[in-house]
Amino acid sequence: MIRAEYVQRVKDRTDLIDLIQAFHVPLKKAGSKYLGCCPFHNEKTPSFNVDPLKQIYKCFGCGEAGDALAFVQKFKNLDFPEAVEFLAGRLNDTVEYESSTRPKSRFFGKRL
Ligand SMILES: [Zn+2]
Repeated sequence: MIRAEYVQRVKDRTDLIDLIQAFHVPLKKAGSKYLGCCPFHNEKTPSFNVDPLKQIYKCFGCGEAGDALAFVQKFKNLDFPEAVEFLAGRLNDTVEYESSTRPKSRFFGKRL
């Protein structure tokens, strides 16, 4: 299990606009938001909105929405821990895992 605090830290340090553009999804500033063509469905008129303050995206065409982790999971077809590791990798950071609730004794190790 990845530490919940760590997940939050990775999200805090990730800029969603940067992240999405790193996947070659062009975004244009439109008022306080960013707008682009949705990477999750085919469209010619941009309906993919990214809110740089809330760090969330929402597509009004197909309904996809979420934060940086949701985007990576969906875009790269990763599960949650893989998405956290991906974002940590971009930050040159190492994922922190919960230490096991059971103390790992040598005895326990041998039985496995
Ligand atoms: Zn869409």
